[in-house]
Amino acid sequence: MSSNAEWTARSKAHVWHPCTQMKDHEWLPLIPIKSAQGVWLEDFEGQRYIDAISSWWTNIFGHRHPYIIEQLKNQLDTLDHVMLAGFTHQPVVELSERLCQITPPGLSRCIYADNGSSAVEVALKMSFHYWKNIGKPQKTRFIALENGYHGETLGALAVGGPSMYRDTYAPLLLSPIFVPSPDCYERAPGESWEDYTRAQFRHMERALQQHASETCAVILEPLVQCAGAMRMYHPIYLSLLREACDRHNVHLIADEIAVGFGRTGTLFACEQAPPLTPGDASGITPDFMCLSKGLVSGTLPLAVTLTHDAIYDAFYDEYKTGKAFLHSHSFTGNPLGCRAALATLDLFERENTLASNRLLSHLMWTQTAELRRHPHVAEVRQQGMILAIEMVKDAQRKTPYPASERRGLRVYQYGLEHGVLLRPLGNVIYLMPPYVITPKQIEHIAQVALRGIDAATRD
Ligand SMILES: *Cc1c(COP(=O)(O)O)cnc(C)c1O
Repeated sequence: MSSNAEWTARSKAHVWHPCTQMKDHEWLPLIPIKSAQGVWLEDFEGQRYIDAISSWWTNIFGHRHPYIIEQLKNQLDTLDHVMLAGFTHQPVVELSERLCQITPPGLSRCIYADNGSSAVEVALKMSFHYWKNIGKPQKTRFIALENGYHGETLGALAVGGPSMYRDTYAPLLLSPIFVPSPDCYERAPGESWEDYTRAQFRHMERALQQHASETCAVILEPLVQCAGAMRMYHPIYLSLLREACDRHNVHLIADEIAVGFGRTGTLFACEQAPPLTPGDASGITPDFMCLSKGLVSGTLPLAVTLTHDAIYDAFYDEYKTGKAFLHSHSFTGNPLGCRAALATLDLFERENTLASNRLLSHLMWTQTAELRRHPHVAEVRQQGMILAIEMVKDAQRKTPYPASERRGLRVYQYGLEHGVLLRPLGNVIYLMPPYVITPKQIEHIAQVALRGIDAATRD
């Protein structure tokens, strides 16, 4: 068996593909991938695709990076897996030490899961449980942003904003307090990102004033609401939120599952929060920080939630007090995943990735200049290595295309025909490439995005 058609047929017979209306595959080709190398994916007939979205934002150093492969092979020869309750191992110890070093100051404890949604569940449960342990069991709710996304398990889904992912399951979900997003696409012409973001913060302040006594935590994605069509906001929101959460005695959960590990230009997006008082240091420390995706360079499932000692200490007591955090997953802290994460951190150090990304993100901006003048593009926005293009019916009025026309899907198809994997979110086309992409490849994917948008907006 070696042709695309054969693998596609076998897949359709038994694989239920994620986030997919399977009937679409009666006419939309499913693409069987045989192998991958660097930015390239290759199918069974030799057709190659540039992975311009890093395989759902996970792959930051390219597929099958030789250093990560070598490290993983060594790890396989030593220790495959051991349960983490009652046992520990070298990769999880080293990884936890290093994560506490590189994340915002104060984060000192790592608890592991095997996917991003589960890392969010840990943060939500732990925040609630903390307040219960210190005698505030009335704190049972969460504040979340509209248009946010935190994963698919029921707790994580509940704190994602109203959306097609959430609405179907609404009767099953916790009901958080939703606050309008600081998403700057909605700003008035001429208004700065900072002014708009500051003004939007009033909704958060009001929600905290009204609900702090019943609220465990605020959860948000710092700087970019990725699944929410790559909507972006100014980092001042993080500074204001940190201050307000402290004042109202509410935790702050930073979901950096997508934006962590250099996506927004800094290693973590929380670092960009400007000081509220001139002369203070920039950056905020959330009470919980959730990481996954880039953590392992897209190789193996691993996620981690970091927190600080004040939280940890509220669980640390005699067993009989019942204060322990009795949460686990079978593959918690899997040694192979931890080894891939350690290799990822090595690469950041060795290759000075953040500095070289500045050049690449500048190129992403300059190569999309033509799109900024396009009659069907209302906005091109960027934070570091994420660039998003808002495709609309009328750029002047920002009139959207009806979702039912599925024009983003046309760009996806155009991309595949021209050797580039773009997977628009609705009508928003975005570039979120692996950091090993070359300037020439950036030029190519920007061209394909432009021609794809031309093709998708012709009628
Ligand atoms: C992808 C994502 C998640 C969920 O992670 P999974 O590994 O897919 O469960 C949560 N939060 C954000 C911000 C994400 O982008």
